[in-house]
Amino acid sequence: MTNTESKPGPMTGLMMDESLLISRQIEFAARFHGQVEVVTRTVEGPIQRSTWAEVARRSRQLAHALLDLGIKAGDRVATIAWNTQRHLELYFAVSGIGAVLHTINPRLPLDQLRYVADHAEDKALFFDLTFAKLAQFLAAQGTSLEHFVALTDAAHLDAAGPVPGVRDYETLLLGKPTDFAWPELDERSASSLCYTSGTSGNPKGVLYSHRSTVLHSYAAAMSDSLGISSHDVTLPVVPMFHVNAWGVPYAAAMVGSKLVLPGPGLDGKNLLELIESEKVTSLLGVPTVWLALLNHLNAVGRKLTTVEKVTIGGSACPPSMIETFEREHGARVLHAWGMTETSPLGTVNVLLPKHQDLDHAGQLAVKSKQGRPIFGIDLRLVDDDGVVQPHDGLTSGHLQVRGPWVASAYFKRDVDETHRDGWFFTGDIATLDPDGYMQITDRSKDVIKSGGEWVSSIDVENAAMAHPAVAQAAAIGVAHTKWQERPLLIVVPAAGKTLDKAELMAFLETRLVKWWLPDAIEVIDALPLGATGKVLKRELRERFAHYRLD
Ligand code: ADP
Repeated sequence: MTNTESKPGPMTGLMMDESLLISRQIEFAARFHGQVEVVTRTVEGPIQRSTWAEVARRSRQLAHALLDLGIKAGDRVATIAWNTQRHLELYFAVSGIGAVLHTINPRLPLDQLRYVADHAEDKALFFDLTFAKLAQFLAAQGTSLEHFVALTDAAHLDAAGPVPGVRDYETLLLGKPTDFAWPELDERSASSLCYTSGTSGNPKGVLYSHRSTVLHSYAAAMSDSLGISSHDVTLPVVPMFHVNAWGVPYAAAMVGSKLVLPGPGLDGKNLLELIESEKVTSLLGVPTVWLALLNHLNAVGRKLTTVEKVTIGGSACPPSMIETFEREHGARVLHAWGMTETSPLGTVNVLLPKHQDLDHAGQLAVKSKQGRPIFGIDLRLVDDDGVVQPHDGLTSGHLQVRGPWVASAYFKRDVDETHRDGWFFTGDIATLDPDGYMQITDRSKDVIKSGGEWVSSIDVENAAMAHPAVAQAAAIGVAHTKWQERPLLIVVPAAGKTLDKAELMAFLETRLVKWWLPDAIEVIDALPLGATGKVLKRELRERFAHYRLD
């Protein structure tokens, strides 16, 4: 039978069966966006200017170097590194040869650092000089690590200190051929590994594949998603050691966006300098980073002049932050939601045509939600018994997700209470409205249970952060004899402002229903932050465990 004759039933399409591979992204970037710049603020200090063509060339050299070290397909290669060009090259070379890039979060406590290196059975570690102490620690632990490479040149290698057999990255690349035949891998092979920060228990490994990564890159580039494009100058402040910097490096290579990598300079002053000098148009990061940038802008009386959009996710973006970016700096905010387990993009908030007629407050209410699913992602809500809940924008439930870039299981972990019936339990409590806009009310472990009802800590925090004298806010549940729990609001004052608790309470009364109002307010200097810049509510609950509400 020829391939045009039909037989009953579905037919096989006649399209080329080309694998979706990360190596294709970097080769595409080299061929079609070769002269587009990749700019890094280096760990050593100076700004380093490069192009996608050069990143591709050096990735191929690195591929040779990895093979020469004895790294084979399936081996795990760890990094502890900032957002830099060298880290970018590791993204493409390690996955490109079929090995697995394990990006380690340097902010992990030491016992967890050791745990993830052991659990992943890392064979090589590439580290920035900033993290030399961590490399020394791991080297002294007798892990599976055989090779240590400092991400620097020979002139700076001394700064790596006593790490056995340590060599420098630039010497490793020196003289390696600049062409390389990337292997034709199965697109389902593992490409990278990222551990969740594990606020309770040991971190859990999420093992991404080439296919999931490439599909996620297409999703990130769609215009009603993050819209990453060749017109953007993209600065991912979100670290490359957490969820692949939200997939930005891959998507940027695919579309040919100029990439600006901030290295270790994540404070407001360094970010502003880089944004202005490189004419950055698109920023991505968590709210705590933007708080620092906005504080700096305020302190020096400057405005952002080039930024067109700011993607904010990782924790809830307060509406007051959306307003500040939009009104004072002329930048559109894209509020997005995701998790390590979802690569991370799940939902992105973009207004629909019908919202154009809403007034400012109406639009802000929509924009403050976590957004709508991107094609590929499916969401639903269930109650405690697993019964699917209506998507009416009012009923809240446990948020479940599925899709081709959602983890199907954790790496080397048999017990898994988070996957059931093809759905992943996010651990978030949310509502979904008929248009598909999802709104997170809480992490399920953070909900405040008051008299059988739930108080949304995120709503209480957002209301508090709308007050000009509040920089940060966290609402936690405190034991209460009558109501089981009641909200305690903990606030950090804005720089140079004093907080009047009674006045803040009066302000909240105008914004929250009566029973959501906190029973008390505490003012502290700083909120405890976890490895990914999120407020550690567990620590706050421990600190205020003996708090008595009148
Ligand atoms: P961790 O390692 O802390 O789990 P993740 O980045 O995987 O780090 O965290 C995912 C969680 O972060 C989500 O389940 C959700 O609770 C929270 N989160 C992410 N984005 C948002 C957002 N836009 N609004 C509210 N919460 C968010």
